[in-house]
Amino acid sequence: MSISHNIQFFKANLPEQVQLVCVSKFHPISALQEAYDVGQRIFGESKVQELTEKQELLPNDIEWHFIGHLQTNKIKYLVPFVHMIHGVDSGKLLFEINKEAKKAGRIVNCLLQVHIAQEETKFGFSKEELLEFISSDELQNLENVTICGLMGMASNTDDLAKVRNEFHGLKVLFDKLKSTVFSAQNSFKELSIGMSGDYETAIEEGSTLVRIGSAIFGPRLY
Ligand SMILES: *Cc1c(COP(=O)(O)O)cnc(C)c1O
Repeated sequence: MSISHNIQFFKANLPEQVQLVCVSKFHPISALQEAYDVGQRIFGESKVQELTEKQELLPNDIEWHFIGHLQTNKIKYLVPFVHMIHGVDSGKLLFEINKEAKKAGRIVNCLLQVHIAQEETKFGFSKEELLEFISSDELQNLENVTICGLMGMASNTDDLAKVRNEFHGLKVLFDKLKSTVFSAQNSFKELSIGMSGDYETAIEEGSTLVRIGSAIFGPRLY
């Protein structure tokens, strides 16, 4: 199936409350252009340099989402244009994004990443850490970031019951935060869960942003 066909498939089949983040990492400009030409405007990348290079070459109305693990020394390259940073996995990173965004005169949308998988290699706050962080006073002073919701990656397994369980736990946490700490903030509304192998489960569990790469572009050649 072609890239344009796959984009059209997702546009036709995703429920209206779910947005498609087209994960284009490792794919060439021509592949992104093909997706763009059938109307795709949200793209996700996981390497800062790759993202900035692509951003320079592609149209300005693309919403760029950074979905990788962000190092503090690279934040400055993203803040001038990035639409959303999905993987904010520490307070330190959020404070640094705020600092750089202030310098750039922008307000940057962020999602807090929660560690829901069993694999040790994945990043993110534990639920306990997140609850503690969210209630700290320091958070009140961050004027150049908007916390738009949560992001998580399920275990890399074929066991969809396990994946569902992990997504469900994150949704419960999301709802709890939305009705308490963030109850006054309409901007806290995104739940970024679901990739090519598990997006259907993620949508059933309340995803609002699915991050899909290989189901659109085919396998990545590393
Ligand atoms: C690469 C990546 C994806 C897309 O994965 P696919 O399985 O190709 O859909 C989604 N989220 C993150 C954080 C990624 O790094």
